[in-house]
Amino acid sequence: MCGIVAYIGPKEAYPILIKGLKRLEYRGYDSAGVALLDGSLRVLKKEGKVSILEEYSTSQDTSGTVGIGHTRWATHGVPCDKNAHPHLSQSGNIAIIHNGIIENYNSLKKELEQLGYSFHSDTDTEVLVNLIEDIQKEDKLSMEEAVRVALNEVIGAYAIVVIDKREPDKLVAARKGSPLVIGIGKDEFFVASDASPIIEYTKNVVYLNDEEIAVLNRNGDLEIKTLGNIQKSPYVQKLEMDLEKIERGGYEHFMLKEIYEQPQVILDCMRGRMNAEKGWIKLGGITEYLPRINNAKRIIITACGTSWHSGLIAEYLIEELARVPVEVEYASEFRYRNPIVTEKDVVIAISQSGETADTLSAIQIAKDRQALIYGICNVIGSSIARASHAGSYTHAGPEIGVASTKAFTAQVTILTLLALQLAQAKGTISQSRLRQILYELEQIPSKVAEALKTNDKVKEIAAKYKDAHNFLYLGRGLSFPIALEGALKLKEISYIHAEGYPAAEMKHGPIALIDENMPVVFIATNMSAYEKIVSNIQEVKARKGKVIAIVNSGDSQIKALADEVIELPETDELLSPLVSIVPLQLLSYHIALMRGCNVDQPRNLAKSVTVE
Ligand code: GLU
Repeated sequence: MCGIVAYIGPKEAYPILIKGLKRLEYRGYDSAGVALLDGSLRVLKKEGKVSILEEYSTSQDTSGTVGIGHTRWATHGVPCDKNAHPHLSQSGNIAIIHNGIIENYNSLKKELEQLGYSFHSDTDTEVLVNLIEDIQKEDKLSMEEAVRVALNEVIGAYAIVVIDKREPDKLVAARKGSPLVIGIGKDEFFVASDASPIIEYTKNVVYLNDEEIAVLNRNGDLEIKTLGNIQKSPYVQKLEMDLEKIERGGYEHFMLKEIYEQPQVILDCMRGRMNAEKGWIKLGGITEYLPRINNAKRIIITACGTSWHSGLIAEYLIEELARVPVEVEYASEFRYRNPIVTEKDVVIAISQSGETADTLSAIQIAKDRQALIYGICNVIGSSIARASHAGSYTHAGPEIGVASTKAFTAQVTILTLLALQLAQAKGTISQSRLRQILYELEQIPSKVAEALKTNDKVKEIAAKYKDAHNFLYLGRGLSFPIALEGALKLKEISYIHAEGYPAAEMKHGPIALIDENMPVVFIATNMSAYEKIVSNIQEVKARKGKVIAIVNSGDSQIKALADEVIELPETDELLSPLVSIVPLQLLSYHIALMRGCNVDQPRNLAKSVTVE
């Protein structure tokens, strides 16, 4: 959460910072600000989107060849101008941008207040910048030394960049728990939360590790040291990211673009990892650990949000195919409840960004208890990828819409392959059944492309139900996690209250909500539960609820009952989630759009949840 960008070099910093902030805006958009150094240190900041800052800045002095920029996702203090970053130290000499939470900010603040510091914001960040200033003043330290000493007093997570007007030829950056990447150009440096603001200037990057501080000097020197003051040599990597992948490419919104990318994403995700004709599956990232994974007594899946839903799908798949018990845990609960984990367990951690703070901590707990960690992430080189023993990337390309779509289907694809590979290795699936599923899997990209053709129909349905105050999503078996995911998509971007439920559970509570104003979305594509779901639809109709049914093409029984029907190409039941989620993504997209909501940047949310 929150986007950080910084520049030092021969160019004007402001245009680079603003462009970078726009690319990072998916990470938070409560406020935006920049600090520029050009003899004087000037801070420009505004509540709201980067465009508001940009408009305000047209009448301001934006000169300077060194600068820092921030787009905020508020944790401490409401979104407003005064809480926007950058924050200045009391003397006005130092400016900071920060992503994360300083947990002991309150006690540090009290100490600083006793020393005569006063605070102008409600943030934890302003405490940190004054702590740096105080240490620098008291101990007469250079900026980087003051930052290092201060960070040793801090509890919590951070990615920071600091500038000091008395040392105008240097940027100091540090991280613990929040991502930070340094771009190395010709006589210039960039720093950012992810590579998107850097990509068009240089492909040479250094990913900063936890508890490392980087000093970027205008003369081209890059020094990295640890919080413990040990020098490190920078490990320069080549960026593998295309500029066009982070542009909207003709689509009105990133979310729509990403929904439409799904056939290709699923194909990319399977590429080189399976062959239906020959009947093999090979997730490269696990080969070394396969015996241990095969012998696991239990698999624990830990994740948050949409990734947790793909974990639920994996529970059904792995138990069905590989006959290993699976538990799916919210990472935030798992990490705080003293879970029983042993070296016989495999823990699968799923996160699009690979930076989700709770999931990272859950990994740490499981690692301490000797479990094998298998990470599934989209962002290459991310913290979770690095913290895992084994893992697979989803190769979905940058996902910028805050509501996850293509990352979800890519995760489900990987988890399906994992379940099949495990089943094959354990001998719990016949070779003919395996081939049958793999052949079907090969058809999934074209079936998802077919599912996208429901767009016009979905749009009509959206227009009819866009003013509803509540929605219910119901499904059985593998369609239950899809019901949860469909409901989450609607909540996230349209702000309509929606709940996902196992269809049979409806009788134990939610049925009380049903009246003629309640749209109920049934995911009825899995044939093994067909008759049961037909009964559930009857129960809703008997109470005058409005039924929107997602069915396999050619269905007639549900068609006769439902108010609205969306027909999808049939596939193997085990693969049905990959197809049935598509119209639900489109439904939430169109409803949100019709309600005038900001689809790509829904209120209060941010993409990469790096705070607990
Ligand atoms: N804790 C800081 C604040 O509330 C930074 C939050 C962020 O990561 O954007 O301003």
